[in-house]
This record gives sequence, C-alpha cells and structure tokens, in this order.
Amino acid sequence: MKQDPFQKPYLLAAEGLNKSFDGFKAINDLNFYLDEGELRTVIGPNGAGKTTFLDIITGRTQPDTGTLVWDADHDLLKLNEYEIYRHGIGRKFQTPTVYGDHTVMENLILSMAGPRSIWHSLFGKILDPQKERLAEILETIKLSTHAYRKAGELAHGQKQWLEIGMLLAQEARLLLVDEPAAGMTDEETYRTGELLLSLAGKHTIVVIEHDMEFVRQISQGRKVTVLHHGHVLCEGPVDKVQSDERVLEVYLGRKSKAA
Ligand code: ADP
Ligand code: MG
Repeated sequence: MKQDPFQKPYLLAAEGLNKSFDGFKAINDLNFYLDEGELRTVIGPNGAGKTTFLDIITGRTQPDTGTLVWDADHDLLKLNEYEIYRHGIGRKFQTPTVYGDHTVMENLILSMAGPRSIWHSLFGKILDPQKERLAEILETIKLSTHAYRKAGELAHGQKQWLEIGMLLAQEARLLLVDEPAAGMTDEETYRTGELLLSLAGKHTIVVIEHDMEFVRQISQGRKVTVLHHGHVLCEGPVDKVQSDERVLEVYLGRKSKAA
C-alpha cells in the first residue's frame, strides 16, 4: 500500500530507499514509517543494512534513490549532516564517543543545544534552567554521583548512558541508538532497557539490537522491524516477529514447515 510520506503523523518516513556499494544492494527498496514518540526496535542479521539505514537518516550516506521525509515537511536528502543534526536527529554509535579527559558534566555541557563555542561551554556561565536540565539528565542516566569524574574512567555501560545523556542534552527529538547492549553485562543491558523505556514517548527512539532478551524487554506492546538484505522482511509485535517463519529462516536457516 502506497502511503503519503508528507502526511502526518509520521515523524520520519522513508520510501523506496536504495543504496548500492560497488553493485551490492545494501539498502533495497526500503520503506519505513515512524510515529512521534515511538520506541522502535530494528533487528536483522549482520549485513542486513541496519547501520547503513542510520547513515542515510543522519546524512552520512546519500542513497541512490528514494525519499526520506522528516516531520512531514523536510526532505532530509536535501540537507547535510549538520543541518540534520540541527533538526534534532541524534545518533549514538556502537562504540561510545565521549570526551574521556572531560568530566561527565562537561561532556553534557558540550552537547547542550544552542550556539556556543567550546570555550564558552566550559568556562561561560551556565544558566539556572540549564543547571536544572543537567541535573535532570544526570538523574535519568543514573550518573548523578559521577558528575565530576572523568568520562574516560567510567565503566563501559556508564559511557553508553552518558552518550545517551548527550543526546538528551542536545535536545534530540529522534534518538538513533546502534547496538547499545554490545559489550554490556546483563545488569547494564537491563538498565539500558529501563533507560530507553523511560525516554520513550518524550522522545522518538530507534534501537538497533541483536540481544533478543533485550529486544523483548524494550518492545513489549511495540512494533519491531526486521531488516533483511536492506528490505523490511516483516514488522509487528515481538512475539509475532519471533515466530514468523521468514524470520526464523533468515536467522536460523530453517525452512518453513511446508518444505
Ligand atoms: P548491519 O548494520 O545490518 O550489520 P550494514 O549496514 O553495516 O549492516 O552493512 C550492510 C552491507 O553494506 C554490508 O554488506 C556492508 O559490508 C556494506 N557496506 C556498508 N557500508 C559500506 C561502505 N561504506 N562501503 C562498502 N560497503 C558497505
Ligand atoms: Mg551495524
């Protein structure tokens, strides 16, 4: 069914996206629609095109064809990476990219929205509403007691939370989170799930993930999208997706019962 990407209520609408690398179709006629406030999990085998899709959303990679509409009236394919970022699309990469020599608080200040030089960010006056917002973010990411520690000293999971906090400081409307549970302990993974659940609704979030226990934790009552060969293989509630024959075949190489 053809949908109109310029029709509300989609916050993000991708239609007919294609991207080839040296003749290999990493993204293949991809259609993807996201409502404001959704927490959407995207799963799929390695090489399915998940990261490439995020690269396209953030302007890092230009697709060969297709449309990508933000908030019903912005053609993201006409904008550069910085302009896309300014629209409130924030991304957390797989490996944390915090400033290790700066404190947790400084990392958040550096990410705060608004025109400010690094010098001003670190040495200028922080206004009261900004202080309140910083305290709120530190609370949300459970790093209040670590605010004045150097980010480089944090545990792996804490660095990931700080990076999510930096997206909040940036006032991102859409958070793109690529494999947050990678390298985390079970406890850290669970807490990351709780953090993302607490942000859903206030923000729109796309999480790419492999860990199915984690996927189940964050996607109860929500839609899960399965990517395969750069195309949406199926979409729906996690139970339905996990028992879908096509998904089982892709993940486990299992043939359908009929075969
Ligand atoms: P996923 O994140 O689902 O594991 P990716 O989006 O990273 O998958 O990759 C999809 C396919 O596109 C892979 O086969 C990968 O090798 C290829 N690919 C991704 N980026 C590039 C690039 N810049 N140059 C060439 N091939 C790429
Ligand atoms: Mg990837």
